[in-house]
Parts: sequence; structure tokens; C-alpha cells
Amino acid sequence: MKKLLQIDAKKTHFFFIGSILILCVGFFIISCGSEISPQLKIQDKDRGPYAIDFTDCRGTSCQVLVLMNDEIAAYNRIDDRPLTVEAWVKLKPTSTSPETGAIMGRISTITGGAALYIKDDVPKFRIINRDWSDPAITTGTPYTVSSNVSLTDVWTHIAGVLSNTVHSHPSTTSCALNVGNQTPHLDMHVDGVFTGCATTGSQFATSPDSELFTSMGVGVWGDVSGADIEGITSKTPFNGIVDEVRMWGVERTSTEINACMKRELSSDGDCDSTIPASGLVGYMRFNEGQGLSTGDRAGLGSGGKFFLNPDCSSHEWEAGWSTDTPF
Ligand SMILES: [Zn+2]
Repeated sequence: MKKLLQIDAKKTHFFFIGSILILCVGFFIISCGSEISPQLKIQDKDRGPYAIDFTDCRGTSCQVLVLMNDEIAAYNRIDDRPLTVEAWVKLKPTSTSPETGAIMGRISTITGGAALYIKDDVPKFRIINRDWSDPAITTGTPYTVSSNVSLTDVWTHIAGVLSNTVHSHPSTTSCALNVGNQTPHLDMHVDGVFTGCATTGSQFATSPDSELFTSMGVGVWGDVSGADIEGITSKTPFNGIVDEVRMWGVERTSTEINACMKRELSSDGDCDSTIPASGLVGYMRFNEGQGLSTGDRAGLGSGGKFFLNPDCSSHEWEAGWSTDTPF
């Protein structure tokens, strides 16, 4: 009898644990099912403030390669729309020569695209438009905005904007007064301060394979072979640290850039990154702090995946996770 009671107790115990397990599994399925919901959109692990130090690369050049699936094509297409790309950058000069290299982008004179980069220490933002309707035209037209400041080895926030609004600009040496009347046009902000503008001939960017943010690179251009712009190729190493990379399919105003540049984006408040209202299409905090992959915090569900990848050939680069961060 006593033994039977023990067995019954064990059965009851087992049933109780089993019920809890079933509830947990059910909760997991509901939480992590195929439906895209806000809580599923965070794929990375947050170990605190980290950034990516590209000078830690042990190959010829290292990059964070952005891969997204077709589910979010509607978001990451860049044709005929404004754009904003942002990143925190700290140069780590390897010599007395000025630094040149790509911060982020996917660009080619053949396919078009957009890119944020450093040329001789000066931050620049470029778009390329390729007219596919005319077979005689085989290369696109580049338009570039240059800031009027040179970077040093201190953390600096850089934002390139393809604006589609008419607005006035603060006067700078690198910005013609009438450019603000054009739609679209290019603007540049460094540490939240307007530093330059440029015409695009009323053209938006075209994007390789229709999407910019698919196969976009951070630390180099994306995987567009043959890209050589201002001496930068898809293999040119970036001598610096990069953090808080944000890609938007909308124009961010100077006020919006300033409000959110020194903090992480969230799901509410002034720096709401909720899709699709915010227009955020890619967001890398680089807060994993270890391993070979980094997640997309933009909120696009399973659509975004980022790989730390040298030369697109192997995963031998244990990423240069850096605790040196802008905030
Ligand atoms: Zn402007």
C-alpha cells in the first residue's frame, strides 16, 4: 500500500511536471511561431555596450555582411525613396596618411546603390543611379555629399541623408544655397551638425538587385564585385571601430538624428524603432560581444541576419568585439 501510494505520488508528480512542460512548449510556440511580432524581431544577445573593431581583422579585410530574405523586400528596397544611414565611427590610424575606407553600403557604378565612407579622413555619403530603361547606358551616375570636417581618433556620429523635402540649410562652404530646394538632394550631418549638401540631379538611388540592404556590408562595401569608388574597393580594409549602424527607408530630420544618436533605439518614446512607422530597415547594435554573428534589431523578424565574415569566404574572423563604444 505504501509502495502503491509512492507510485501514485510519483505519477502525480510526473503529471504535474509534464503539464508545466506542455504549457511552456505551448507558450514557446505562441511566442516564437511563424507570425512576425515585435518580441520575435530581436535576434541578438545583448551583453552590454560593444562595437566592432575592424583593425582586429586577421584576413585581408573583414566585414559584417548583411543578409535578409525576401519577406522584407518591401522595406529594404531603396529605389525612389528617401534614405538615412547612420553610424558611430572612431578611426584608428595605422599611419600618418589620411584614412580611406567604407563604413557601410552596397554600391557599384554598374548596379547603383548607396554608401557611407571615409575619404582622406573626410566622411562622405554617395548614391548611384543607373538608368535601366536605356540599354545604351551601362553605368550609373554618382552623386556625393562631403562633410567639411576631418575625422580623428575620437568617436564621431555620421549621418547621410537622401532627403526628399524642400528645406533651408545652414550655410557651409560645401553646400550651395539652392540645393535645399531640390527633391531629392543629399545632406550630411556629423555629430548631429549639418556639414554639407549636394544635388542628385533630382534622382534617387537605384539599388543592386533591387535592394540595398541585402548583402550590404559594414566595414567594406557589400558583395558587389568590381566596385572601386574614390580608391575604395570591396576589399579595402576599414581602419577603425564602428557602432550603432542604422539604416532607414525614410528621411530623418536633423532634429530626429540629434534626438536619438546618443542612445539606443527602443520600441517607444521619441526614438521609436517600430516597423513600419519608423521606416527603420536595419539596426546593428553590435552588443553580442562574442561569436561570429550579429543580429538585426530593426524589428523585421527573421528577415535580417548579419554575419561577421572575412572576404565572404570563411568564418575564421573572431570578430573584433570592442568595449570601446561611443556611449
Ligand atoms: Zn537638405
